[in-house]
Amino acid sequence: VNEALKENEGKSVSVTSSRRRSVLPQDMSKPVNKRLSHAVKSLDMVPKKGKFEDTNRPNKQFYQMIEEFRETLEVLPLSLSDTVEAHRICVCVRKRPLNSKEVTKNDIDVVSIPGNGTLLLHEPKQKVDLTKYLDNQVFHYDYSFDESSTNDLVYRFTAKPLVQTIFDGGMATCFAYGQTGSGKTHTMGGDFSGKSQNSAKGIYAMAAQDVFALLNQRRYSSLDLCPYVTFFEIYNSKVFDLLNKKAKLRVLEDEKQQVQVVGLQEMYVSCAEDVIKMIEMGSACRTSGQTSANANSSRSHAVLQVILRRRNQVHGKFSLVDLAGNERGIDVRSSDRQTLVETAEINRSLLALKECIRSLGMDSHHIPFRMSKLTQVLRDSFIGDNSRTCMIAMVSPGMSSCDSTVNTLRYADRVKELNGTLKMND
Ligand code: ADP
Ligand code: MG
Repeated sequence: VNEALKENEGKSVSVTSSRRRSVLPQDMSKPVNKRLSHAVKSLDMVPKKGKFEDTNRPNKQFYQMIEEFRETLEVLPLSLSDTVEAHRICVCVRKRPLNSKEVTKNDIDVVSIPGNGTLLLHEPKQKVDLTKYLDNQVFHYDYSFDESSTNDLVYRFTAKPLVQTIFDGGMATCFAYGQTGSGKTHTMGGDFSGKSQNSAKGIYAMAAQDVFALLNQRRYSSLDLCPYVTFFEIYNSKVFDLLNKKAKLRVLEDEKQQVQVVGLQEMYVSCAEDVIKMIEMGSACRTSGQTSANANSSRSHAVLQVILRRRNQVHGKFSLVDLAGNERGIDVRSSDRQTLVETAEINRSLLALKECIRSLGMDSHHIPFRMSKLTQVLRDSFIGDNSRTCMIAMVSPGMSSCDSTVNTLRYADRVKELNGTLKMND
């Protein structure tokens, strides 16, 4: 067993640098090491040749190493009965299951979610002498959702707590972030498996249902709040109305820095089913349409807003955003100019978004919202004491997505790292 422990030390888990994590460096690395030291099974962590020879799986050695690492993990998945904590900025991660294409290719799952907000990435690496090893990286978030998590569960811990905010006169935002194919639209818009979309199973619809549940409560009925919906897309810095045949809209800013999307359709809704109809109409419009906007929805941000008005003034606003894919690995030589411009624009807007959320976390008076159209349009959500936000970072589990996954995890980490610093100064 001692030998085994020594072996484990060699495979120690590297904690990637971040201020957030450095607040409690020991606590961050302890649980994993503790789990490892429990592991008598770790004798098996030395790859056994016999076990590999009977499979044709590519990267079978990595597969085996990961599976053996997993056997040493204590897993405590999040459940519906766990308490939901209040966060001003909440950052979570969601792993989707391997899809059939990945399964067919024998892609291996390199992401583990032991629970408690933790995610482990088993990054396959090779030494100069060609020895294979795993770079096991630990990330911590407010919540981590494993591949068996349903949209219901994700909703309960992410967007649901924000519904109250807009009734209290605040602004709420919820973002789905990640590479194309990682599950952003599945999470926000609902289940697309089969031909038609089941919008009722997405966070958009669940949030709408809760808005109406609260509207019908007596304590709010006296406020005379009227609910409206907008649904638009931002593609290449241009705004298109998804509830009005993708009409191209102008964004104006007045001298008081109030930002207005001119002509955006704000639809009155009288029940959650109305909202679901709008989601379906807008989603259909998003992927088809004849305008100059690219038909490929992965290159645009989609924003669904539920606005509560009181005597025509905005009382609260909930913006739910299905962001454009964050992939950077687009081949510069083989891409046309259009694609390169798109990619640069997406990168700029995602960078701007990160900076704006961070300034919200610091209570900063300088919000760099002008950096992109996305943040400009969402400007009012990044200010005020009563603004809250949640980011759900989606990751694909496959080894073939490893680089993208690392990018996503680091981005999500930085969105919140300033909160750690604030806590230290408190
Ligand atoms: P994105 O919007 O990030 O590009 P999608 O939401 O379209 O990705 O997801 C890609 C595919 O994976 C879809 O077929 C979707 O149904 C499936 N998928 C995504 N997340 C999950 C999940 N948690 N469980 C099951 N299938 C999922
Ligand atoms: Mg999508």
